[in-house]
Amino acid sequence: MFDLSGKTALVTGGNGGIGLAMARGLARSGASVVLVGRDAAKSAAAVEALKAQGLKADAVEADVTDEGSVQRLIAQVLERHGALHILVNNAGTNIRKPPQDLSLEDWNTVLDTNLTSAFLCSRAAHAPMKAAGAGKVINIGSMMSIFGAPYAPAYGASKGGIVQFTRSLATAWAADNIQANAVLPGGIDTELTRKARDQVQGLNERVLARTPAGRWGVPPDLAGIAVFLASSASDFITGTAIPVDGGYSIA
Ligand code: NDP
Repeated sequence: MFDLSGKTALVTGGNGGIGLAMARGLARSGASVVLVGRDAAKSAAAVEALKAQGLKADAVEADVTDEGSVQRLIAQVLERHGALHILVNNAGTNIRKPPQDLSLEDWNTVLDTNLTSAFLCSRAAHAPMKAAGAGKVINIGSMMSIFGAPYAPAYGASKGGIVQFTRSLATAWAADNIQANAVLPGGIDTELTRKARDQVQGLNERVLARTPAGRWGVPPDLAGIAVFLASSASDFITGTAIPVDGGYSIA
């Protein structure tokens, strides 16, 4: 039920953090994974780490905010692998400022990286998934898809948008046997949140106090949901937004 042998999975932001852990999970279930990022050296190191574990991985350098770059990315994946079955829209960034201090450039950077990228990659993935007769889109949201934070106006807008975008994909593509779901991680210990803990006073303590599990998540905590949503086990599940948060969202 969870076997992904013969499947090709593209993971944006797959060269580190949550993306790499999800890619490792997909590869352990048999998929060939393609890691996407702008930093070619970081991607090459991640590919080597996966290959050293006997997993099937390669990387494509791409900027997922750029329409031409995304088109070239999908073309390269099809050329190398012949098909695309699973897309994880995980690339993300944050600029932490209150709304009144956020420039339009800051806003656009965050929206382009977190939301427009998911649109561009999903749109480009539709034809190959339809041709394959099945597809899985997994979009990465956040607790900020649900809750507000004074220092995250653009990030929150992008992550709220991801959930609604996922529902649109799910309704539009159900007839093509393509399922689209969102994952909403709680506080996960990565480069992104290490920076946040430096920048936002008291964040570490607030996350720990509010998370019933009593800890930050680690990237491997996201591997299981990626495999589930990429596999036939979830074929009748579409348009959902599933928290992976140690209970943060229900406490
Ligand atoms: P990281 O900063 O570790 O990873 C971000 C990834 O995105 C990197 O691999 C980076 O690769 C890639 N990326 C950024 N911009 C672009 C771009 N323009 N084109 C291609 N790739 C890009 O962050 P996390 O692993 O923490 O975050 C991954 C996702 O999870 C994000 O969407 C984030 O919002 C979300 N999330 C994280 C949480 C957490 O607690 N960590 C909580 C909730 C959600 P490169 O630099 O090579 O381009």
